[in-house]
Amino acid sequence: MTVRVRVCHLYPDQLNIYADRGNIAVFRSRAERRGYALDVIGVGAGESLAPDSDLIYLGGGQDREQALIAPDLARRGDEISAALADGAALLAVCGGYQLLGRGYRDRAGVEMPGAGVLPLDTIAGDRRMIGDVSIECELEPGDTHSVVGFENHGGRTHLDPDAVPLGRVVHGFGNDGGSGFEGCRLGRAIGTYLHGPLLPRNPWLADWLLSQALGRRLGEAPDLEPLDDELEHEAHAVALGRARVRGGKFR
Ligand code: GLN
Repeated sequence: MTVRVRVCHLYPDQLNIYADRGNIAVFRSRAERRGYALDVIGVGAGESLAPDSDLIYLGGGQDREQALIAPDLARRGDEISAALADGAALLAVCGGYQLLGRGYRDRAGVEMPGAGVLPLDTIAGDRRMIGDVSIECELEPGDTHSVVGFENHGGRTHLDPDAVPLGRVVHGFGNDGGSGFEGCRLGRAIGTYLHGPLLPRNPWLADWLLSQALGRRLGEAPDLEPLDDELEHEAHAVALGRARVRGGKFR
């Protein structure tokens, strides 16, 4: 029997800037090439979280889209934390990442409530932080990887002192342009500012998340069989080269 990974895609109609939906296509392709199936359940405002989810996904969105779903997402904090405690993995990008924290104050001074799942707050600054980013990530001790992407955010995200960032900024701004941190990691949950979409050029991160999701389904995270990632590595190298030249300028 084919093992099926269940993905709960929150607010697919509102949070899908810069083709962030492409991350789901990467999960699907990398799962199917290993003989697993991926079921994606889109969940909008007012609908209940997909039960028995192995992976929860939220893309990015501008302030306007975020304001549409923020009150709904804020009510889901306990539900999402319960899914994480039950072993689900999570990926949230930019607008989704911000609203998984305690809240986001936008450029106009509007306070949006957050889900309070991640230990962080976000406040918009005057200038947007736009450009290519590279970070160094160590999700498993001693196993460091370069992760690349594109950031475009006005929000400055401040992690609580005991929070764990996703990685250290090598080129670009990251969470706030000053701390040297990018993203946040809480167990199997990852929040990040990196678009691209993120996963096509970071297959290692895609497989880490997929393996965590499969871990919930199977009882243990499997070692995924390697794929031919020549193109993906080339895409990573191109993005890394751009980050060296174009990362970290205010626009
Ligand atoms: N509206 C948020 C900001 O500008 C998030 C933008 C995004 O998702 N790209 O900070």
